[in-house]
Amino acid sequence: MKPIQMVDLTAQIEDIKPQILEKISEILSSSHYIKGNYVSEFQDQLSQYIQSKYVLGCANGTDALQVALMALNLKPGDKVLVPSWTYVASAEVIALLQLKPVFIDVCMKSFNLDVSQLDLISEIHRDIKAAIPVHLYGQSADMEPILAWAKEHHVAIIEDNAQAIGAKYRFSNGSEKFCGTIGDLGTTSFFPSKNLGTYGDGGAIFCNKADLFQQISGICDHGQLSQKYIHDIVGVNSRLDAIHAGILTIKLTHLDEYIASRRNLASFYTNALNDIDAILTPQTMDYSSHVYHQYTLKILDGRRDEFQKFLLSHQIPSMIYYPKPLHQQPAYHTEYDDRISLANSEQLSQEVISLPMHTHMSDDQRNFIIEKIRKFFV
Ligand SMILES: *Cc1c(COP(=O)(O)O)cnc(C)c1O
Repeated sequence: MKPIQMVDLTAQIEDIKPQILEKISEILSSSHYIKGNYVSEFQDQLSQYIQSKYVLGCANGTDALQVALMALNLKPGDKVLVPSWTYVASAEVIALLQLKPVFIDVCMKSFNLDVSQLDLISEIHRDIKAAIPVHLYGQSADMEPILAWAKEHHVAIIEDNAQAIGAKYRFSNGSEKFCGTIGDLGTTSFFPSKNLGTYGDGGAIFCNKADLFQQISGICDHGQLSQKYIHDIVGVNSRLDAIHAGILTIKLTHLDEYIASRRNLASFYTNALNDIDAILTPQTMDYSSHVYHQYTLKILDGRRDEFQKFLLSHQIPSMIYYPKPLHQQPAYHTEYDDRISLANSEQLSQEVISLPMHTHMSDDQRNFIIEKIRKFFV
């Protein structure tokens, strides 16, 4: 049996290598390495797929968040709501722009922003200007109540969709939208291990309004809003390279098949582990589809770390996303406001463990993983 990887990118590329190499070779010969038709072709293709009017490629998912925040014209000290239970990038960009992160807890069931805290938080912080709901592990945050709250309090919404590209949110009237296209702006990452990954760094920003698109395009291009060498605002240099755009053009045509393969592995795991009392398998919420960027268990008997060591002793990798919620991190703990309970985030950091999840797991490998897990708990 091949060694089990957390994310097996070498197995995945074997299937598409000839197409990828051909595309890279074509781009090398074209001399269009920065901007140009390969980038616009990918942006158009992604905009069709995700049904966002505008898509702008940029250098990575963290830049995408930063540029989206910059487009809102906030002032230093303005407050931005963000879950404490997320990857650091979601909060990092807030602090970096001298804005103030206000941490909100997440639901134990969905791992996403706890909408029942929104009213309390806006009583405590009356002047929140923006919020960054994160679609963690591959399913949507509960956007309908978030949008209603945002409208009432004039809060701009940036969706961090680095982990849920291809997932959809279902509104109570039955209509659906792709994650990342629901708020004012959405962002994603093409980091290699993301569900739509390139072989290097990349990111994108989604929006449906022409004025916001002009703003983010200008910010990514050194603040040139209308004319070359006229820098209307302070911007950054953040671009998706043509080579990555070309690679992503090919990988996007496989995204649905990759998602199907992740779902297949997830339901295999769930069926095989559901009966174990000490394990809670991931729940799909009624309002969302799930694309399983991560397959994350909760271990309820307090033996999470012991379980991880056991897996490792059988060469089964696993990851703790995340070992510490952001409000307990050295760089962010000063932002902790104890009027807002972040108890769920703290508890999750003790309970969660993510199993190997990728598009190319063999039957032997997945059976081996289950056999060992059952041996530990049953
Ligand atoms: C990966 C990730 C990012 C950052 O993306 P990079 O491309 O690595 O900068 C941001 N937010 C979340 C939730 C992520 O998982």
